[in-house]
Amino acid sequence: MSRATAPRGARPSGWQRVAVIGGGIIGLACAWRLAERGHAVTVFDPDVAGGATHAAAGMLAPASEAVFGQDALLAAGLTGAREWSSFAADLTRVGSEDIELRPHATLLVALDADDEAALARHARHVERRHCPVERLAARSARRLEPALSPRVRAALRLNETAVDPRVVARALAHAVVASGGVVVPLDVEPDVRAGRATGVRARGTGGVRDGQPTGAAGLADEGRAYKADVVVVAAGWASGPLASALAHPVPIRPLKGQVLRLGATPGALTHTVRATVRGREVYIVPRPGGEVVVGATSEDVGEDPTVTAGAVHDLLHDAIEVVPELAEAGLLETTARLRPATADNLPLVGPTCVEGLVLASGHGRAGVLLAPITADAVVAHVEGRPPPRAMEPLAARRLCHKEHA
Ligand SMILES: Cc1cc2nc3c(=O)[nH]c(=O)nc-3n(C[C@H](O)[C@H](O)[C@H](O)COP(=O)(O)OP(=O)(O)OC[C@H]3O[C@@H](n4cnc5c(N)ncnc54)[C@H](O)[C@@H]3O)c2cc1C
Repeated sequence: MSRATAPRGARPSGWQRVAVIGGGIIGLACAWRLAERGHAVTVFDPDVAGGATHAAAGMLAPASEAVFGQDALLAAGLTGAREWSSFAADLTRVGSEDIELRPHATLLVALDADDEAALARHARHVERRHCPVERLAARSARRLEPALSPRVRAALRLNETAVDPRVVARALAHAVVASGGVVVPLDVEPDVRAGRATGVRARGTGGVRDGQPTGAAGLADEGRAYKADVVVVAAGWASGPLASALAHPVPIRPLKGQVLRLGATPGALTHTVRATVRGREVYIVPRPGGEVVVGATSEDVGEDPTVTAGAVHDLLHDAIEVVPELAEAGLLETTARLRPATADNLPLVGPTCVEGLVLASGHGRAGVLLAPITADAVVAHVEGRPPPRAMEPLAARRLCHKEHA
């Protein structure tokens, strides 16, 4: 896609007034790319970057996460991972943060014979999709990553990277404003009249006037509405209930993830390490400065945001089983957030059956990875161009097809 951006304040012909509902990594990425092309963008979110984005480990790991039968997601993920270097470079240029793509690779490690067989299957699966994999004996794996447990029997090394989603979200919020966009701390819903999205309406007691919140209760009707040509629903798991204005249900549900942040010795770990311990998957993602993210649960328990003792226990147990010296690390943070999940594990991105209403949600475990390519797709839709090819199977219109099938 052409990366031509409009000079700040200039509006190219065909510019649109766009309201983005949700300032997580997806909404912010879409808003920034739209604003830098000269569209008039307003992001609405009472808790910017406080959703799943706040919990995410930030792995850009399409091959590690590849699952049999989900080739469309893998293809989008591989394209998305490639997009990240220019996205990070552009975002760094806008200015507030240095967006570092961590150069460390992923080690998938086996602790027993069943794991070894599973790794062999995984390697064959991703190699068939042209992802290079390095097979390592235990000794080579421990030479690369001395902190690994002596129990590790074998490993796969994948050339993947990671970002810190909290830093990225901060940079994106800055970039939206630096590119002429506006961020309004309001809880809103799409305003749909006669089958067309005409903007957003404030929910609760807040209001919006001239793109700014008024915060006052009891406003006149027009004070609670914001007009837009296009409404992008990027409200994470809440996109499902919000988009009920559509002619059919949008099947996005919350999928709870619990995650820990530990404080380890800087440099103690240089790779993202993933393993299966007692049938549970665990990953350990090092950040610069010694922070280590340990995750994550995947719980289909509705809107429950509680951090549970059992999950913290299991995550600590499993991480220490794989990297024993983490037993000495400080426990900095426990977090639970809700991922936006879909039944077929594919995000829903693009125009819907309601004119002017675009969905950008349902990214499940891969919203950080897919943020740049999702933004490209949304910009293309707003400008009436086809989305990147890898995003075609993720089209939100597939819901309309199902309805009429
Ligand atoms: C524990 C955990 C680990 C993860 N690790 C990774 C990883 O390593 N790599 C990866 O790619 N992905 C990862 N993910 C997934 C990733 O975090 C999500 O896919 C991604 O954050 C989705 O982004 P989003 O912007 O759609 O949703 P969110 O980040 O949830 O943002 C939605 C926003 O919408 C706002 N909102 C909701 N309703 C309204 C409303 N009515 N009006 C206005 N605003 C509203 C919310 O306040 C929120 O800020 C992880 C997720 C979890 C939970």
